[in-house]
Amino acid sequence: MISLVVPLYCEREVLEALLQRIEAALEGEEWELVGVNDGSPDGTGEALSALSLRDPRVVPVLLSRNFGKEAALSAGLDAARGQAVIVMDGDLQHPPELIPTLLARWREGYEVVDAVKEQRGQESLSYRLAARSFYALMGRSVGPDFARRSDFKLLDRQVVDALSGFEERNRFFRGLVAWVGFRRAEVPFVVEARAAGGSGWSTMGLLRYAMRSLLAFSSLPLLAISWLGFLSSAAAGLLALQTLWNWIRGVAVSGFTTTIVSVLVMGGAILVCLGVV
Ligand code: UDP
Ligand code: MG
Repeated sequence: MISLVVPLYCEREVLEALLQRIEAALEGEEWELVGVNDGSPDGTGEALSALSLRDPRVVPVLLSRNFGKEAALSAGLDAARGQAVIVMDGDLQHPPELIPTLLARWREGYEVVDAVKEQRGQESLSYRLAARSFYALMGRSVGPDFARRSDFKLLDRQVVDALSGFEERNRFFRGLVAWVGFRRAEVPFVVEARAAGGSGWSTMGLLRYAMRSLLAFSSLPLLAISWLGFLSSAAAGLLALQTLWNWIRGVAVSGFTTTIVSVLVMGGAILVCLGVV
């Protein structure tokens, strides 16, 4: 069986079209659609439940409030029972017509099949710049060509089981999938325009998400702290020599030498220790 995991926030208007396009794309396969309603205020949950009464292949997962896309994905992955699990957005920006291609690569023996963006959808200049710098910083820890990957992918059951071993609440799904390894293939796709509604992400929300993902995935911030510590220790050493020299020559203000040297040495030491911790 093939499982489709789709996080849904305010996608009531798209739900019907989504199901139809999935049905057409998966003709002849045994599948289930795990729809995760992420606490939508627009009745997506009710619409999802109604669909599941009509079509038993629809499995509704109803979250008690809005937890964010990453949490919705985790919940969906936990509920999915298929041998292959396909993760995709519910707003039709990830075309269901690509699914047979993903499945074909999986049947060739690939355990992770990434749908990569040939072309990013319509984005503002500032969004594009922010995304680019995020991926440049992220790239060091998750490998190159990461920017083109999306949350549209197929995972073999083994990969899903490996991912379910992670218990953190704030996950960076794309990064984790890149990190767990396995045999990986890529399939290109063009991001479609949003079918209805607007993006569920606020600018602050995206920034917080970027910051958390960076901190969780990269040791760069820690290394930077350690280096800052070493540099200020070195500067403290030099300044200490100069102040001592002034003291020896008898031109130092009384008490200045000990104060400045201890402040500098302690500051440097604390930063180095923080980096280690
Ligand atoms: N989504 C979600 N919870 C949220 C925000 C978004 O489950 O709090 C879902 C949304 O329904 C969609 C997917 O995550 O299926 C991607 O969201 P969106 O299209 O808003 O993001 P974008 O395409 O702008 O990255
Ligand atoms: Mg979208």
